[in-house]
Amino acid sequence: MFGKNKILKPELHDGSFLDIQEIFPTLQGEGPYAGHPSVFIRLGGCNLACDFCDTEFESYQNFSLEKIIEETIKLSKNSDGKIVRKLIVITGGEPLRQPIEKLCAELVKLNFLVQIETNGTIYRDLPPEIKIICSPKITNEKYHQIRPDLLPRLNALKFIISKTHKNYQQLAEVGQSKFPIPIYLQPMDEYDATKNKENLEYTTRLCEEGGYFLSLQTHKILGIR
Ligand code: SF4
Repeated sequence: MFGKNKILKPELHDGSFLDIQEIFPTLQGEGPYAGHPSVFIRLGGCNLACDFCDTEFESYQNFSLEKIIEETIKLSKNSDGKIVRKLIVITGGEPLRQPIEKLCAELVKLNFLVQIETNGTIYRDLPPEIKIICSPKITNEKYHQIRPDLLPRLNALKFIISKTHKNYQQLAEVGQSKFPIPIYLQPMDEYDATKNKENLEYTTRLCEEGGYFLSLQTHKILGIR
């Protein structure tokens, strides 16, 4: 969080247990599935440490796959016991850092729509039904290129934009130009009302100029998680 987290390496095991930060029901706030009732599975740990990152992902617990699935199904239901949250968002931290292949396969089998949010630096062979949204990130003032094996699998790219943060003033070529990947631009939340207003105006202009989609963090506008 805010660039202070420990950088963790990808894990190699059979995915029958995973480090989970939290599982919770909400509306997906951003990107192509904004507004969809969903259950978020936030995995612990990240392989990067971005200075603007406002997500807590280091106080995780180890859960069995069965427990994760059980909790997800429970939280996907409304008060009448009907499954109404049909989108499962697997995020982090960096969710591809852990072996989530089995988790994804189980959720697909249960007819959930599954979306991964990744920074694009780790590849895993996930079922073809999984929707992968990639938000490229910067280390040492340089964007990480998206892994070539992941690029053809991407359903959308989401660039974070700031008018004043020198690393995030423009989107960049991270390998996407050979693929018809929809591109979203999202104003950075800098926890400063003036900066945020400037970021929104600046990002809107970039979208209008470049033909990109605007992504807002609607969960923050709504005051939900
Ligand atoms: S890659 Fe994402 S989760 Fe990891 S530190 Fe950067 S913004 Fe935070």
